[in-house]
This record gives sequence, structure tokens and C-alpha cells, in this order.
Amino acid sequence: MGNSARGDHAFTAEGLVGASFELTFAGALSFLRRKYSRDLTGVDVAVTGLPLDTATTNRPGARFGPRAVREASALLSFEGRPYGAAVSPLDLLAIVDYGDCQWDFGRPIEVPSAIEAHIAGILRGGAAPLSIGGDHFVTLPALRAVAKQHGTLSLIHFDAHSDTWSVDDDEGRIDHGTMFLHAAREGIVDPARSVQIGIRTFNPDTHGFQILDAPWVHRNGAAAVVQRVRELVEGRKVYVTFDVDCLDPSFAPGTGTPVCGGLSTATAIEILRGLAGVDVVGADVVEVAPAYDTAGITALAGATIAYEHLVLYASRPGAPAARARTDASRAR
Ligand code: MN
Ligand code: MN
Repeated sequence: MGNSARGDHAFTAEGLVGASFELTFAGALSFLRRKYSRDLTGVDVAVTGLPLDTATTNRPGARFGPRAVREASALLSFEGRPYGAAVSPLDLLAIVDYGDCQWDFGRPIEVPSAIEAHIAGILRGGAAPLSIGGDHFVTLPALRAVAKQHGTLSLIHFDAHSDTWSVDDDEGRIDHGTMFLHAAREGIVDPARSVQIGIRTFNPDTHGFQILDAPWVHRNGAAAVVQRVRELVEGRKVYVTFDVDCLDPSFAPGTGTPVCGGLSTATAIEILRGLAGVDVVGADVVEVAPAYDTAGITALAGATIAYEHLVLYASRPGAPAARARTDASRAR
């Protein structure tokens, strides 16, 4: 048992694979106690915070989302794998906490290009990005970077809101309710092969996106959602974006624009679990705003969903299934 087995893996890990015993109430709050590093050598997934909250239409505070999600993730970090998952992401994937994207808050117009360059740097290093928001606007520059590498993407979008409200002719606006219309118009996502899950706010136009709204999910259940989504994204490169307000406010009160009638955390997990094997090349969890949270349940939901994204990464075609047996630096 090396030093790495004694905890505070964010500092002590000798490799990037495996878990160690951790005090959940102490130590550095990297995501899932992954090692903090900007060295992407041999890294499969880089977790990064995108702490922007100036594009929200209502309550700000999602800039503190990355910190809250990292803190909540400490409780999950020593588990072998999420309960019932077929694979163990911490054993199969080399994962680092890449820290947060930095920018000058006095120059908000420069934020999109800062985020795009940040995510592009992760991709250039050979890693896949797992981003923690931040309000949902952050997904647009992340998508731009991922699409530059992988081409037009299918978007699997969990949200109470379509985020495709009309942008009119004002392309320069930065707003967390319009960016997927930008993404469709820019050709970086294909709306006909993308799906929005959990929608329950009025928008007069789908802009061609496939929609499984919240009442449809409640009526038909997770298995039907999984079947429909798998049909839509079959053979495509996929970006999974999870706005935590997809969840009902009873499961996720700590968010900027809560809407009643949403999914339970359990249903969302069941849907994500059913998507194993989809070719995920980018993923995020956004809109956790801890100031409105109660007992940390929204942050825990965000951390849990992000962990499920890692399960998807570990299940995707070409995932390094043999690493757990071959990585000599495995830290357990
Ligand atoms: Mn959203
Ligand atoms: Mn939303």
C-alpha cells in the first residue's frame, strides 16, 4: 500500500487510474479526487470547470458550480464504481482534474473564445473534455471546439429549456437561452439527429431538434427514452450536455431557472446508463448554483451525473478496457 492509498488522491496519486481510501470531509476538492494536472500525457478524460454565470436570464451563481460539484464528488470518490454500472470509470480511464478555465471578467465578450481555446487545448492533448458549468452558455464554445475536432455532432441535451429561443439578427449576444440555435445555424450540431430531453417551457419553434419533453418522459419511461435516443444518434459522434434544471426542483433546487414537473435524479441516471456504448466525444453538467441549493442535493446530483458521464466515456467504442489490468502505476 503506497502513499496514494492513504488518501488525498488529488495530491498523492502516483498514477491517473484507480481510487484510494479518502476522508470525504477533508483534503483537496478535485473532481472525484483525481490528480490536479495540466499535463495531458496519457490522459483519457480531463475534467474542467467553466465558471461563467453572466449569461443567465434569472438567478446568477453558477460560477460557483464547479467548486460545489467538486466538493459533492468527494463523497463518491472512493467507490469502486457507480452502483450497478457495468464498468468502473476510475479503473478504466486515466482522468485528471484540469482546473478551471481562466478569463478576465472585465472583458465578457472574450469569454467564448477563452472557453473554446481551453477546450481545444484539452482535445489537442489527446483527452476528452468533461466540463462543469457555469451557466449553460458555456456549452456553445465547448461545442465549437469539439466540432472542430470531430465534425458535426449529435447533441443529447437534458434540460427544462430548449435553449433555442430566437436570436433574431443579434449574433453577438451571450445568453444561456439561445446557444443551441447558434450551434444549429453554425452547423456544429445536427438538430435532426439531436434530442432534447425533459423540456417543459414554451418555445414556438423546435428549430428541427427532436424533443422528448418532460410529460413524454413521465408517460413513457426511461427505457423508451433510451430506445428513441439510441436510434437518433446511432453511428454519430455525440456531445452530452446536462442542464441540472432538467431535474425537478425537488431534486435540484440550486439552479438559476428552476421549472416544476421535471425528471427525478433516478430517471436521469437510468437514461444515461442506458446510453452505454454511444460514441461520446464531449460532455458537461451545467447550471448548478449552490447559493440556492438545499443540503447540497443539487451539487450531489451534478457530481453524480458527471460520474455517469464518465461511465459513458468508459463504455464508448474504443475505450481502454484493458487498462485496469495493465497500468503499473495504478494507485489502488
Ligand atoms: Mn439550459
Ligand atoms: Mn435549463
